[in-house]
Amino acid sequence: MIFTADIEDWQQSVYDFDRPVSNRVLRNTSRLLDILGNHGVTGTFFVQGMVAEKFPQLVKAIAHAGHEVACHSYSHRRIYNLTEAQFREEMRRSVSSLEDITGNKVIGFRAPTFSVRDEFLDWYCDILHEQGIIYDSSIMLATVRSCYGFSDDGILQRLAARGLDSYPMSVTRVLGKNLPVLGGGYFRIYPYWLTHWLARGLDHRTSIFYMHPYELDTHEYREMSQLVDIPPKMAVHQFARRGSMKIKLQKLLHDYPFSSFRDVYYPA
Ligand SMILES: [Zn+2]
Repeated sequence: MIFTADIEDWQQSVYDFDRPVSNRVLRNTSRLLDILGNHGVTGTFFVQGMVAEKFPQLVKAIAHAGHEVACHSYSHRRIYNLTEAQFREEMRRSVSSLEDITGNKVIGFRAPTFSVRDEFLDWYCDILHEQGIIYDSSIMLATVRSCYGFSDDGILQRLAARGLDSYPMSVTRVLGKNLPVLGGGYFRIYPYWLTHWLARGLDHRTSIFYMHPYELDTHEYREMSQLVDIPPKMAVHQFARRGSMKIKLQKLLHDYPFSSFRDVYYPA
C-alpha cells in the first residue's frame, strides 16, 4: 500500500483558514513520524505551504526520515473556492518553499478536501504542470460527501488526456456503490476489522491509505472547545474515535507492506 499523510493543522486547515497554524502540527506530526519509524515505513507526506513556511524544520525532519515530501496547497482553501490566479499563487508559494527547504523537486500534489472539479480542469492541470507536478492524488471515486467525489472514473481519463498521472483514493464496491476505505474519517470511525475486511479485494501494492496527524491528537477537542464554538456535527465528524487511531494505525502498519508514491511509481 501507499502510505500518505496530509500535513496540516486542524484549527487552521479545517476550523478557520484565517487562524495561524498552531504548533500542535509539530507534536502530532512528530508522533506520526515516531510510529512510522518504529515500523520501518516510509510514505508520502503532502505538506501544506503555510505549515512549511512556519515550521521548515518539520519539513526537514520528514525528508530526513526518508519520506517523500509532496504538496497539499498553501492555505487549504478548497480549489473550487479559488480563482485561477489564487490557485496559481498558492501552488507557486508552497512548491517553492518545500523545494527550498528540502532541496528536492516536488512532483506530487493532493488538493485540499479532494476539491477538484471538471469545470476548471484545464487551468488546474496547467498550473500543476507549471510547478513541475507529475502526479495527482486528489480524486475520490465515491460521492459519500456532498463536498467532493466523482461518480465514475471518466475523470481519470480526462486528467490523463491533460498529461497528469492520477492515483485515485481507494474505494471498494458495497451494495452497488463505491465506499471509501483506507483513509481519513472512514478509517478512524470504522472498527479495524471492517477496514481489514473491506480492503481484502484491493491491490495491496497500489491502494492508498491517507490520514492527518491531528487524528492522533486526543486532547484537541477538549482544549479547543473551551476556546471556540465547535458545531456538534463538526465535533462528531472531526473528533469521533481519535482515541482509536494510534492502535489501529499500528495494526495496519503491521499487517500490510507500505511505501511512497515516489518509491512505487518514480524510483530514482
Ligand atoms: Zn487536507
